[in-house]
Amino acid sequence: MPPETCPNCGAEVPPKAKACPECGSDEKTGWSGEAASSGLGLPEESFDYDDFVKREFGEDKPVPRGIAWYWWVVAVLVLTAILGMILWR
Ligand SMILES: [Zn+2]
Repeated sequence: MPPETCPNCGAEVPPKAKACPECGSDEKTGWSGEAASSGLGLPEESFDYDDFVKREFGEDKPVPRGIAWYWWVVAVLVLTAILGMILWR
């Protein structure tokens, strides 16, 4: 029995329809239910993860590390300078 609206694309599904008129999803490809969510979710997650990994190991990853090291050096230098000012006075 089809839902009133397609869980895949959100289009209105006729009561007697066996498949969504918009995206073509049906009982086999998945109306509502765990089969639909898992079937549609896994490919998207894996794809996003791979793309995310590529971005992480590409250009974005070294930048945060550089910023972290930079700020550690700055913090040490500032503390050293402050201590030096105090001790020299
Ligand atoms: Zn649909």
